[in-house]
Amino acid sequence: MENENFMKWLDQMKLSHPLLIAGPCSAESEEQVLEVAHELTKTDATVFRAGVWKPRTRPGSFEGQGTKALPWLQKVKKETGLLTAVEVGNAQHAKLALEFDIDILWIGARTTVNPFTVQEIADALKGTDKVVLVKNPINPDLELWIGAIERLYTSGIKNIGAIHRGFSTFRKTKYRNIPNWQIPIDLKIKYPTLPIINDPSHICGEREGIFDVAQTALDLKFDGLMIETHCHPDQAWSDAKQQITPQRLVEITENLRVRRETFEQEESLAKLQALRKEIDALDAQLLETLSSRMQVVENIGLVKKQGNVAILQNTRWNEILQKVVDGGISHGLNKEFIENVFKSIHQESIAHQKKIIDA
Ligand code: PEP
Ligand code: MN
Repeated sequence: MENENFMKWLDQMKLSHPLLIAGPCSAESEEQVLEVAHELTKTDATVFRAGVWKPRTRPGSFEGQGTKALPWLQKVKKETGLLTAVEVGNAQHAKLALEFDIDILWIGARTTVNPFTVQEIADALKGTDKVVLVKNPINPDLELWIGAIERLYTSGIKNIGAIHRGFSTFRKTKYRNIPNWQIPIDLKIKYPTLPIINDPSHICGEREGIFDVAQTALDLKFDGLMIETHCHPDQAWSDAKQQITPQRLVEITENLRVRRETFEQEESLAKLQALRKEIDALDAQLLETLSSRMQVVENIGLVKKQGNVAILQNTRWNEILQKVVDGGISHGLNKEFIENVFKSIHQESIAHQKKIIDA
């Protein structure tokens, strides 16, 4: 999949790179939409976002103002010159967004998981030159994300991009949706010309972490940010905790470092820093995995204690070692290295189980 057009489109529309998309989670009223949009003209944002159809986890929550809010977005464009973006959740939404000349349509995380719906949206948008952005599916599944992008691509949609909004997890973490940076990195490696925009608002779920996540995205050479912005965030009808004011958006963007690529030296330094960020993200993932593994080891310890079974089960350990050595070799890793790593993990696991059994 080649997608050189998007960059050309950014140039043509004289949009910033990285692109800054901002606006409320939901369009609540015409006044609220216009108030935010006018405030955003004092920021670096060039695209105004607002959800008109809101997919909500529980019934009874505010589900968006629907079609009647689309003229409000047209008014935003007329009064402020900002381009407009809405989420489309089905083919009907997509048709309406085209009818009301919305510039950017995005497919939400809950829709990306459903190939039938994505296909229907792709059919409704056949051949459009509007920009269509695909949020990652809520579950950490790169193939599903790529599949949705492919469906748009094969429908002749020229300006396609991706939005990384994090992944849901059962585990309690400081994020609302864990970033799992390796997944968008893998997408970028596979499709180097596909623009990826980061959505720190839905990753964090609160205001505090937005700067750090946005900076990491820029260090990883993402092509833009989508940040939820509301003039009175605490009173927002949806996602109140994570929305920031336009004033806060200015503070954040003023402090974000965007790597310039003017001199060769600077370029290689930026590359080095981007790679180091990748290493940091991978190391964080390794630690998470090790900690989850240790949790399971402790649960096994409890079962062994109840069954009065010995900690060390030689045959099981030999099986594990053989499996990881074979797996490691097939990934191009050195046999001795894998043995050392896993012997060390095993030793630590035994220590954890011993503590449980002796308690
Ligand atoms: C949104 O952008 O408001 C939204 C609903 O996002 P997501 O699909 O990432 O949950
Ligand atoms: Mn939201």
